[in-house]
Amino acid sequence: MGETKHAGPTKLSKKPRPDLWVSKVPFGLGKIKPHHLRDTLKVAWENKDNLPYATRILTQGVCDGCALGVSGLKDQTLVGPHLCTTRLNVLRLNTMPAIDEEILHADIDELRSMDSTELRKLGRIPYPLLREPGDRKFRRISWDEALNKIAEKIKTIDPKQLAFYLTSRGITNETYYVAGKVARFLGTNNIDNASRICHSPSKTALNRSVGVGASTCNYKDWIGTDVLMFWGSVAANNQPVSTKYMYAAKRKGTKIIIVNPHFEPAMEKYWIPSNVESALFGTKLADDVYQVNVGGDIAFTHGIMKHWFEMEEEEHGSAINQTFVQEHVNGLEELEKKVKSYRWEQLEKSSGLSKERMRELALLLAKSKSAVFVWSMGLTQHRFGTDNVSQVANLALLRGFLGREHCGLMPIRGHSGVQGSGEMGADPFVLPGSDMDEENRKRVEQYWNFNIPDWQGDIVGVTLENALLPRNHERNLKLYYMSGGNFLETMPNPEFVRQCLENVDIRVHQDIIFNTSTLLDAKEAVIVLPAMTRYEQPGGGTSTSTERMVYFSPEIKGPRIEEARSEWEIYVDLAKRVKPNESDLIDFKDAAAVREEIALLNRNYDGIQYLKEKGDVFQWGGAWLCEGGVCPTPDGKGNLIPVELPELRKPEGHFYVSTRRGKQFNSMIYGETDPFTDADRYDVLMNEVDGRKHNIADGDAIVAYNKHGFFSGRAKFAPVKEGNIAVHWPEGNSLIPESVYETYAGIPDYNAPVIVERAETYYAYKDTKYAEKRIEELELEPN
Ligand code: SF4
Repeated sequence: MGETKHAGPTKLSKKPRPDLWVSKVPFGLGKIKPHHLRDTLKVAWENKDNLPYATRILTQGVCDGCALGVSGLKDQTLVGPHLCTTRLNVLRLNTMPAIDEEILHADIDELRSMDSTELRKLGRIPYPLLREPGDRKFRRISWDEALNKIAEKIKTIDPKQLAFYLTSRGITNETYYVAGKVARFLGTNNIDNASRICHSPSKTALNRSVGVGASTCNYKDWIGTDVLMFWGSVAANNQPVSTKYMYAAKRKGTKIIIVNPHFEPAMEKYWIPSNVESALFGTKLADDVYQVNVGGDIAFTHGIMKHWFEMEEEEHGSAINQTFVQEHVNGLEELEKKVKSYRWEQLEKSSGLSKERMRELALLLAKSKSAVFVWSMGLTQHRFGTDNVSQVANLALLRGFLGREHCGLMPIRGHSGVQGSGEMGADPFVLPGSDMDEENRKRVEQYWNFNIPDWQGDIVGVTLENALLPRNHERNLKLYYMSGGNFLETMPNPEFVRQCLENVDIRVHQDIIFNTSTLLDAKEAVIVLPAMTRYEQPGGGTSTSTERMVYFSPEIKGPRIEEARSEWEIYVDLAKRVKPNESDLIDFKDAAAVREEIALLNRNYDGIQYLKEKGDVFQWGGAWLCEGGVCPTPDGKGNLIPVELPELRKPEGHFYVSTRRGKQFNSMIYGETDPFTDADRYDVLMNEVDGRKHNIADGDAIVAYNKHGFFSGRAKFAPVKEGNIAVHWPEGNSLIPESVYETYAGIPDYNAPVIVERAETYYAYKDTKYAEKRIEELELEPN
């Protein structure tokens, strides 16, 4: 934790920099790129029935899109407007009216004929709904009926058979905190959140490496750092305003380096709409790209360190920051031994990059005085995601890129609420303030004045699987209470997820809209509860950005869905109905009272209790965590973690598939065509060399398949690393096996080996032994 406070936004020079331009042709005419003006007009048209309210949300509220973080139109990094099409796209979720009654109560199969995009556009859930086995339609019920039914069920089951899940778009810290408390009040530790499937390995790895599971630095540190590296992150697409910070960094001479199997065009060049120069002529972003194999990051980072250790043998201090390591780091010898144990051939084969290329980056980093490492799902969504992140932390610790200006480790978040979800305790491994260790549990019990269960709660994937356990099993999932989320489209193997969701006795969907999961059957009842958006909640709410800024979003005057309720209030109401005799233990007067309690229980959040007005913000932990190299670990030192090279058994001629995002906000699709790549949702991005090898031409109908499922689409040649393909998420989830979790953080592995064939070949042999035999070849592969 640091003493230094964030100094607030800086001004960007207006002096043109033609050397950074993509082209002299204005507005990138003729190039494949997003059309921001057209998209903005489209959003204005969509919100035409509620434009004043939409404007108030944009100018007063905290963005409910990604976690870059902005209050109104101002951020803490650069002076000037902060707005992007992602925020504009999700705006309609907040301004649209209720679902038309006729459609709301239509036959369930009629609703099921719609996809999640169509369901989203229907409008808001207006009042509590119930559907029981045999019902063809949702039926309106009262809040009393809905909550009493849920409460009665909870009373009859073992708390281990009850689970909660909270997603991240729009959910506030107050809701996460209260949900975490209510879950424990009801006797269960089965509570998890959306970070389980995105950045849980980041938190786990950073905790073990530097003692704190959050970004150690700020976006301002990007601007003027020697090297800004993006590992498995397409920030330009998923956190669009980050391109403005990249532009500012380039102006200061920062080198931007990309590590990804696919050289995403959005990271190569971008037309930043809020910057006149960039909007006109574009900005070249990436200085270099290292196209690693899917799953090749550990070998790649070992390669960099192997070069460093070789350089050190020639000249002490030529690569490793020896002073920093001696004073602030543990485990050098063990790490060196591990790194040196791998041969260059192993590292080259696994990473897909040559020794010489790895040396280029090793040299660049060795001579750099500062660097910021930013990463996303490309590192985390692996069965070795925590180790991937530890390797990046190892690099930072060896070079001393930590705890000072222009240096740091940043897991960039894609959901506005997700940073706070774990920090508030909506997590099976966490209570407010710390982990579920004995000491913290006792501390929190004292505040809460009730016992917290001492058994380990389950992660979301295991919770879903618990629905298929024998009915008399103590963990057979009988009631699943979800705030948002759409597992059918976010978890691997949709068919398996469907079975799990349908096998729960009662499923509760607390949400603002329908999605495909809401419409599935349940054994006893599906109950749908209408939630308020973050802008409607009395007393406002807070959310925490990637850089640990805790922003206050006020209640904003505007039209309301009459029966929608503040999410944290619903949890409290339910808890009181389950345990009426202890209701005083779970009471909160208002949202401010929740913030008061958060400040008491999570000392990092001391300051949240003072947030009251639009624009109020504070940063927990100061500008730099581990300031001066002092980490919040027991001995104050960072830990180098020796990491095993993962075994990547991909038979010759097969591919690794990974998933990517297009025009979408997390699993919400906003366009069938990706404006950066021009790829349709069912295009399979592959290298042209691979296409030629497999007799596949650009645009050919192809099938990617393995023993788990298949994906039909069209080949689209793109700068993807040979031997790897990329498909859109969530469509590509059919190729991803269920039940494969990362060891330490429990994230599902969203990558798998596949065979790729022209569709005519695949279908011609589909009914013969041939196809079965080919699939059997994959039986030996690791899951
Ligand atoms: S970049 Fe993220 S935080 Fe900023 S406006 Fe866009 S969605 Fe919101």
